[in-house]
Amino acid sequence: NNSLAQTDSAVMTAINGEMHRQRDQIEMIASENIVSKAVLEAQGSVLTNKYAEGYPGKRYYGGCDQVDVVETLAIERAKQLFDAAYVNVQPHSGAQANGAVMLALVKPGETVLGMSLSAGGHLTHGAKPALSGKWFNAIQYGVRRVDCLIDYEEVERLALEHKPKLIIAGFSAYPREVDWARFRAIADSVGAYLMVDMAHIAGLVATGLHASPVPHAHVTTSTTHKTLRGPRGGIIMTNDEEIAKKINSAVFPGLQGGPLMHVIAAKAVAFGEALQPEFTSYIKQVVANARALGEVLVAGGVDLVTGGTDNHLLLVDLRPMGLKGNTTEHALERAGFTCNKNGIPFDDEKPTVTSGVRLGTAAGTTRGFGEQEFRQIGALILDVLNGLRTNPEGNSAIENRVRAEVAAICKEFPIY
Ligand code: PLP
Repeated sequence: NNSLAQTDSAVMTAINGEMHRQRDQIEMIASENIVSKAVLEAQGSVLTNKYAEGYPGKRYYGGCDQVDVVETLAIERAKQLFDAAYVNVQPHSGAQANGAVMLALVKPGETVLGMSLSAGGHLTHGAKPALSGKWFNAIQYGVRRVDCLIDYEEVERLALEHKPKLIIAGFSAYPREVDWARFRAIADSVGAYLMVDMAHIAGLVATGLHASPVPHAHVTTSTTHKTLRGPRGGIIMTNDEEIAKKINSAVFPGLQGGPLMHVIAAKAVAFGEALQPEFTSYIKQVVANARALGEVLVAGGVDLVTGGTDNHLLLVDLRPMGLKGNTTEHALERAGFTCNKNGIPFDDEKPTVTSGVRLGTAAGTTRGFGEQEFRQIGALILDVLNGLRTNPEGNSAIENRVRAEVAAICKEFPIY
């Protein structure tokens, strides 16, 4: 029963290294966040030892009294948070949640209609290399060339033409509010199910800063680790009892075996946190920070896809500065910012290069950054980009100076 440091210094050293990385750099990856100590503690608990195939009160293993309490808490809190009648908290991830919905509602070979990866959709929405694109007849919609907003007319046209069994809305790189009612009307017009994957904006939905898809969609899925600030994982919600039964069977025994009870405990803790008024203040700040960051970046010479943001993320179009996503990602990393290159709609560059980077404010806001810090961050990012313009290998003098300023900000807003 020795500690990790005593038994496995190799793993411990890497964990400590990661702790320092998270502490000393500014996390701008839009899909990441920094969970509370309470969430970490629940996830690192003895619940990892427990098998609990089945659902609360109906398990295939003995000794499930305590994990039943935990899973019921997670379910009840998620119901309250999202005003949903039925919730399954067992999906191991967002991809598993989406896979379970497909297993429940669509048969292999049937048609699904989702947004293409290149326009901001997710792999699980029918992309070619993913199961959703291989096992189903996946038709993909995109955004409008003029303003990069969802092309609802195209969605409608493709729905009428292909008669999908399932329409998927909800995205990985879309900075604007989505009209769920419009998606539902299109689904109804062709007798399709509507699945909304609100992974990125779940925290905004939970606090009313983005309209909820739950009353509109037949099924809503989400990850729990992005703006919702919980452990890595997935959930599925619906207001329809028949669909709920199908979803439960699809998650277990359809797709998964034993649920990760330690993760479900951490989900319960995170949902409890998200029900507190402080979480609403946090999400309001996330949105205000994204806006402030966007203003500084645009004033400094980049474009934002759609011209701005309504949520926690910004899709930065680097073309006005003549820069590429991959080299910009690396330069920002050298300067102390972690982010990811991201294709922009109608990108001429390969996915390994891209013309954009995706930035998010969820993690920085958790550290305590406000608009002032995000304006400063925007100015520092612009310094790095301008340095990269003068030298495609990166301007090391600028990058080192920015790195020192990043270190000072991080020291002022420590994590853990
Ligand atoms: N759905 C959307 C919209 C996402 O952005 C992501 C992840 O980035 C996922 C699903 C997949 O989640 P996971 O990585 O937990 O499988």
